[in-house]
Amino acid sequence: MRILLDGFTKSFGAVTVIENMKLEIKDGEMLALLGPSGCGKSTTLFAICGIHKVTGGRILFGDKDVTRIAPQERNVGVVFQSYALYPHKTVEENIAFPLQVRRLSADEISRQVNEMARLVHIEKLLGRRPAELSGGQQQRVALARALVRRPDVLLLDEPLANLDAKLRLEMRSEIRRIQLETGITAVLVTHDQVEAMSMCDRIAIMDAGRIIQIATPSEMYENPRTEFVAGFLGNPP
Ligand code: ADP
Ligand code: MG
Repeated sequence: MRILLDGFTKSFGAVTVIENMKLEIKDGEMLALLGPSGCGKSTTLFAICGIHKVTGGRILFGDKDVTRIAPQERNVGVVFQSYALYPHKTVEENIAFPLQVRRLSADEISRQVNEMARLVHIEKLLGRRPAELSGGQQQRVALARALVRRPDVLLLDEPLANLDAKLRLEMRSEIRRIQLETGITAVLVTHDQVEAMSMCDRIAIMDAGRIIQIATPSEMYENPRTEFVAGFLGNPP
């Protein structure tokens, strides 16, 4: 689904962190929000999922204005570094959890959980608990849990930050495969330019609360709008 931030503004007390941001995430694309620490990437993502109330502007999911809709009422899937799995539940129960608020039969829940487990390649782990899984496997479970209710948008905040280098490479391509297979609209927050370039259809590069340039990875690499962009992509003029 197409997501639009229209004049999005966010202040914390007297400090305005984002002012009048306009950002369109196209239906079915994976867009990176890329920029240095503190530039406002997570704040932007929190506004999309509703964890933060906006100070100004509107947020649209398709034609629907969700600006005043609470996070649990928005149909979003989130995988954040800090959103841990439920430690006492099995993998199966973790994935099923978002479905339990819906009136579905046990058979239907089981069918959807199994479909997600197949999608993220964890069919054999359904009976385990999170502590019995590797970091990469835990992220696969988190992805399945985020996707099981068929969200309008998948929001990923530094999802690979806690993984070692080898797993990070593997999960880069896995997350992209899963996004392409499901066709879900997705936003990836990262400070890692290689991650953004290798995983996403387009990159929005941010500095100090503003979007400096939005383009495909190759357009941005070949035609960086500013020295900041060029420097950040590792292609200084
Ligand atoms: P990023 O995710 O790009 O590292 P953030 O969106 O987390 O950046 O933060 C952007 C700015 O907003 C930073 O200056 C940060 O200190 C500030 N900020 C974020 N959350 C809060 C908060 N809850 N209260 C006050 N300031 C905040
Ligand atoms: Mg952040």
